Amino acid sequence: SQALILRAQKMEAMGQLAGGLAHDFNNILTVILGNLTALGDARPDDAQVAEFTEPAITAARRGAELIRGLMTFARQQPLQAGAVDVGALVASVVRLVRPALPACLSLQAHTGDDAAWVWADAMQLENALVNLILNARDATPATGHIDVRVRTRQVDAAQAAALQLQRGPHVCIEVQDQGVGMDAATLARVFEPFFTTKRPGSGTGLGMAMVYGFVRQSGGVVDVRSRPGEGTVVSLWLPAAECCPVELAPLDEPGPVPGA
Ligand code: ADP
Repeated sequence: SQALILRAQKMEAMGQLAGGLAHDFNNILTVILGNLTALGDARPDDAQVAEFTEPAITAARRGAELIRGLMTFARQQPLQAGAVDVGALVASVVRLVRPALPACLSLQAHTGDDAAWVWADAMQLENALVNLILNARDATPATGHIDVRVRTRQVDAAQAAALQLQRGPHVCIEVQDQGVGMDAATLARVFEPFFTTKRPGSGTGLGMAMVYGFVRQSGGVVDVRSRPGEGTVVSLWLPAAECCPVELAPLDEPGPVPGA
């Protein structure tokens, strides 16, 4: 666990660096985008202006997207947290990404019967799962299997120490593939922003960094187990929500009269 702590410290330092850079770059891009758009708007009928501004605007937007990824890693994205039914969310993500996978690749959700709720930003959790499933797809031959499992787990003292988690109830979301797996050198750098083994243009190296940042910000941890040739299991451990959302009385219903 000394190695785990060292890695956490390294990721923390990278997060701070990336956060500062992302913030300044975001401001710069905002100025560039604003002025390019204004230029295009000022000469709406000038084809030559459009010929130069449009690709520049597209590139600047792509840059803004990368910056958003970096900000998620650096945990500078505000989270819109709420109670999330993880089983339902996983089922909907699986439906959503199914069309992006080769037809003979099997993608199965195993959500179990237990209620599994977390307090998190549903959209970010969705993004994280999409990233994990697409990574599994990229690692897997077209006829392989990807399994997504949702489990509720009581984390005891030993697991808490091993995984750097709080004790108590957790929801564990696992994405498992039987693909190419990772060697030790890749595994050690998997969360680093811009670390990718994919060819230029097909990977940004921000997917796992974003997953890491989001899960840490939500009070959880990401555990990756992988062996070359055997496949990969990525587990997101998130603290279980205290209770299922309670039915709130509608706003227009008068409450008890004080002192009555
Ligand atoms: P990208 O997908 O753009 O490369 P990620 O941050 O999502 O960026 O992943 C970083 C690297 O981690 C990948 O390039 C790949 O080498 C490795 N990786 C991630 N997920 C898996 C997986 N399921 N199987 C094998 N390797 C993986």
